[in-house]
Formats: sequence, C-alpha cells, structure tokens
Amino acid sequence: MTVSGEAHAPSYYAATAKGLINFPALESDARADVCIIGGGYTGLSAALHLSERGYSVVLIEANKVGWGASGRNGGQLHSAQRREQSTLEKWFGKKHAHQLFDLGEEAKALVKSLITKYEIDCDWQEGLIHAMHKRRYLSDMNREIDLLQKDYQVKDITTFSRDEIAAALGTDVYYGGWREQSAGHLHPLNYALGLARAAHFAGARIYEDTAAIEVSESDPPRVKTAKGTITADAVILAGNGYLQDIHEDTESRVMPLHNFILTTEPLGARADELIPRREAAADSRFVVYYWRLTRDNRLLFGGGETYGTTFPNDIKNFVRPHMLKLYPQLADVKIDYAWGGTLAVTMKRLPYIRRLRRGLYTSCGYSGQGVGTASFAGKLLAEAIAGEAERFDVFTKLPAPPFPGGRMFRSPTLALAMTWYALRDRL
Ligand SMILES: Cc1cc2nc3c(=O)[nH]c(=O)nc-3n(C[C@H](O)[C@H](O)[C@H](O)COP(=O)(O)OP(=O)(O)OC[C@H]3O[C@@H](n4cnc5c(N)ncnc54)[C@H](O)[C@@H]3O)c2cc1C
Repeated sequence: MTVSGEAHAPSYYAATAKGLINFPALESDARADVCIIGGGYTGLSAALHLSERGYSVVLIEANKVGWGASGRNGGQLHSAQRREQSTLEKWFGKKHAHQLFDLGEEAKALVKSLITKYEIDCDWQEGLIHAMHKRRYLSDMNREIDLLQKDYQVKDITTFSRDEIAAALGTDVYYGGWREQSAGHLHPLNYALGLARAAHFAGARIYEDTAAIEVSESDPPRVKTAKGTITADAVILAGNGYLQDIHEDTESRVMPLHNFILTTEPLGARADELIPRREAAADSRFVVYYWRLTRDNRLLFGGGETYGTTFPNDIKNFVRPHMLKLYPQLADVKIDYAWGGTLAVTMKRLPYIRRLRRGLYTSCGYSGQGVGTASFAGKLLAEAIAGEAERFDVFTKLPAPPFPGGRMFRSPTLALAMTWYALRDRL
C-alpha cells in the first residue's frame, strides 16, 4: 500500500523550505486530458510542460509535493547519464551513446533554465568534484576524461592530483579526481516547490493527500482514489521508488533503495577549510558518499544504504561514521538533522521510461541521478503525449529487465548482491 497523508520528512530541507503551497485533497471525481500520479520532479515537470502546451492536467500526490526523493536528495545536478560514456558506447554503440549524452546535457541545462525562468530560490551553486577512493580507478578515470574531451567536446573539466583534491575537499583520503564547472548543487525541496508553483500557475490542478489506489486496465485507464475516479486520455505513473501495488510490471523493473543524509550544525569559518570553492562532491564508492556545504555553512553528507523495508532507528549514528572517515576533525560537531529517502534503481542504472500501452506512461528508475533526469523526463513525457516521441524514444530503447524475483521478491535477492558490491568498496 502507498504511504499517504504524511508531512515532509524532518530534514534540513523541510526546515528551510520556502513558499510551501498547501494544495487541497481531491474530494470527488475529476476529468482531465492527463492525470499524473506522483508529485516529485517527474510528475511536476510533466504537469508544467503539459500545462504550457495547453493540456488540462490533474496531478495527485499521496503526501505533499516534493515529499518523496525529490524533497530529500543530495541536491547534486550531474552531467550526462548515470553510466559512463565508454560503457554506453560499448552497450549501445556510438550513435546512441552520443544521443544519450546530448539529452543528459540538455537535462542539466533544463534545470538551470527552469530555475531562472520561474525565479526558483533554491541555492543553485556551480561546480561538482568526482573523487577516486582507490588508486587503481585513476587510469579508468583518465581514459573517460580523455573520451569526454576528445569525442564529446567537454570543455569544463579540471583533473586533480592527490594533493590538489586534498586541498579542494579538505580530506586526504582520495587519490585524485576531477571537477566539472557546469554541474553543481541546489536545495532539492525548494526546487521541487518552485516547480509545483510554476505548474500551478500554468494551470495544472494539483491535489495533495490524494493517493491513487488503482489504475484500471481500461482504454483509457481510469485512476481510482479514496474519494473518486479520475478520467483522463493519458495517465503518467510518476511514483518512482514509492509506487506500490499500482503497476506490477513497472514495479518489477525498479528496486527501491533507501539512502541517508545528515546535516551538521552551521560550521562558520570552518566550512571554508572543508570545501573552499563550495562545490558538491561525490566519490567512487559503489554505495557512494556525496556531500556539499549548504548556504548557511553546514556540511550536508550522504552515505549508507539499506535494501529492506525499514530505515535504521538512529539515522544520525548510521551516517556519522561515514562522514568521520572523511572528516575526523568534525567529531566535535553537532548533527542537527538526519533523514532517509527512497530512490529507485534499475538493473542497468539507466532510467525506465516507457509508453506502456495507449494512454499509459511510466518514468522512473533514475538510479541516483534524478535531479536532472527526472526533470527532463517530465518534459519528454509532455512531448510524447503531444505526439513528438523522437527524443522520448532515445530512452524507450534502453533495456530495463525485471529484477530477479519480480515485485514480490526483488529485495532479498538485491540485498545479497548489493552487500557484495558494498564489501568490494572496502577491499
Ligand atoms: C537520499 C537520496 C539522495 C539522492 N541524491 C541525489 C542527488 O544528489 N542527485 C540526483 O540527481 N539524484 C539524487 N537522488 C535521486 C533523486 O532524488 C530521484 O531520482 C528523483 O527525485 C526522482 O523523482 P520522482 O519525481 O521520479 O520521484 P519522487 O520524488 O520519489 O516522487 C514520487 C512521488 O510519488 C508519490 N506517490 C507514489 N505512489 C503514489 C500513489 N499511488 N498515488 C499518489 N502519489 C504517489 C510519492 O508520495 C512521491 O512524492 C537521491 C535520492 C535519495 C533518496
């Protein structure tokens, strides 16, 4: 059963949220051109882009808009796709890899343009560093950078030696890395709330505390909620890692993973000793560490993952040892917030975007790279519904096999596999 009627997680983001709009619950039947299930980046961006094209849109969110991963994540806006270009070329050939790269870059540009166009106050800051935690990863890293610079004309990369990355990140645990200027970080909940406002003013009807409990097999599909039925020509499933018991096939192709973040107390001048140029950072671990400074000089650090159905009881002390591996000098610092969120990964770590049948669309499984990709997927869904599916189809061609065990048994199988990979981080 979908979780519904919940307030925002007790995060740093909720504590610093700006311009929250409380949308009503849906109390009766409704009719729209498009019904969207889920109020994260995917659903909100689809609502905005469809409304701008003149479609009537009803978006239903089981909790609050931005309640899911979109309001809880690390806020890092990455380039291209979740997989390296060398891997994409090997899997799909150069032409498709280049298309995916171009659309990934467009996703990054879209987020920045939405922030500007709708004046979304979400602390956007350029610069992102990739840090290698094993010496043996450096040769692959250099090969990938070479490919990006020569074949993809990427111009904004700076590579770091061991000393340089220590200076950039205030920790000596990394062997090297690279920085890109055009990627960066933002306040994810304020960005989601900005999208919601933009969609609302563009004419989308948004309802909170309204869960879809069933999507019918009919053509077009009808969406049932506790208080009514929504009739629409097209339905978009945008529940990502939180979608439950709505569409078995979609759910069997993504795996919900829980990931955790803490935020320290404000660090004042000490913050500059950690990340003097205030980039975001992510490292090469399989269970990735990601961190950055907030506008008010806190360290926001993500690390640690669980694969079962529950969160750890004490999230602060679940994440803190990971942070101290990089920054033992912060042992005396108070942790003000700690929270968890659920993302969805696919077997190939590439998004699952499909027209499932006439009038039914799904988009999910961004595998930890959803700030850009989910925002962009919303735009692609709007294009596809308007009959312009060329760019949408660059993604629909990507393979997304179901997880072994399907929807019911995917967790235990994955937990075993993930634990093995997480162990490899330590070898
Ligand atoms: C801890 C964490 C850190 C992350 N860090 C990053 C990062 O730094 N950079 C990055 O690019 N990505 C990151 N991600 C991933 C990114 O947050 C997601 O890919 C992205 O937010 C997905 O957006 P979405 O709209 O598809 O899903 P969500 O934001 O999860 O939204 C889905 C919404 O659907 C609603 N819903 C579900 N079922 C129903 C239903 N039946 N009826 C009505 N509503 C329903 C849920 O309540 C939820 O609000 C992170 C994720 C997590 C959890």
